Amino acid sequence: AGAGRWGGGGGRGGLPRAHFLPMRTHETRTPMNGVIGMTSLLLDTPLSRDQREYAETIRSSGDALLTIINDILDFSKIESGHMELDAAEFGLRECVEGVLDLFAARAAEKRLDLLYEIADGTPSLVRGDASRLRQILVNLVGNAIKFTETGEVVLAVWPAAGDAGDLVHFSVRDTGIGIPPEAMDRLFKSFSQVDASITRRFGGTGLGLAISQRLAELMGGRMWVESEVGRGSTFHFTVRLVALPSKPRPYAGATRAVLEDRHLLVVDDNATNRRMVAELALGWGMVPHVVDGGEAALDFVRSGRRVDVALLDWHMPGMDGDALAEALRAQQACPPLVL
Ligand code: ADP
Repeated sequence: AGAGRWGGGGGRGGLPRAHFLPMRTHETRTPMNGVIGMTSLLLDTPLSRDQREYAETIRSSGDALLTIINDILDFSKIESGHMELDAAEFGLRECVEGVLDLFAARAAEKRLDLLYEIADGTPSLVRGDASRLRQILVNLVGNAIKFTETGEVVLAVWPAAGDAGDLVHFSVRDTGIGIPPEAMDRLFKSFSQVDASITRRFGGTGLGLAISQRLAELMGGRMWVESEVGRGSTFHFTVRLVALPSKPRPYAGATRAVLEDRHLLVVDDNATNRRMVAELALGWGMVPHVVDGGEAALDFVRSGRRVDVALLDWHMPGMDGDALAEALRAQQACPPLVL
């Protein structure tokens, strides 16, 4: 029960207690790496079914323990004022895409749409701490997927003005279970979880948001949440990132001539995706037409309207991308298809 206060209690006199843990980071992680690494090797050897099951349990418990250790070490490092931020150059888009890559498989397994949107005017090359920014995003996107059964998770990034310089604003929106109002203010406290029974099902330490919020503050921003039970949550945070003059992306300019004035048919059941793809296409000088499914796409093509290329979503209710591609190919004027 005293855990919530733990780590912040370092006194001025004597050896501050909170300083003890950060120095132990390496010593604590090394044996865990041994446990996890050796279990992985063991799993690659011939084992009986029982032995495999035991080794897999050791492996997943080891992973879970390492996550807890990392969270506790990070948290105590922040609380004791020992967290130092890096200031290196990195690409914002690459950072965002790297995070989403991590979760693509899990989102697909749950049949969730995982999308991102970076607004015009957002600096593409910045100076800051990429790995801590990534840590925040991994936590928020991971939670969003964990607590969403159907629908979508959308990561959005846009520039924002702060008192002391330019900020970048990130939001992670989900269509999940939502958070009851009475739980909102404990959300960012350490070791707090909204519902203990949910935690038993999903795991977690209850430290992720506490760490993320403090990291955002260390980076000169803040973090907050909007949520409605049963409808979903949106976590927002801002951080200060120094915008650097960026090199132009070569492909963006080179393809423009090819794409200009081409008619693009976008077929996707997800409204957010349709809007984002249409906006991108407009930005490239294309003429986008959007429809929400296979039947509408077939009608569009049969109507004889111009389509230079059609972009089909794969996972769609009713007729999926595969079936639609086949139906379109049977038409007289089938445009080139991108699935
Ligand atoms: P944990 O590691 O346990 O997920 P966090 O600090 O990241 O810890 O989250 C704390 C709690 O906040 C979660 O256990 C969950 O109850 C709630 N929560 C976080 N994100 C969401 C979300 N996107 N939707 C609903 N509940 C959430």
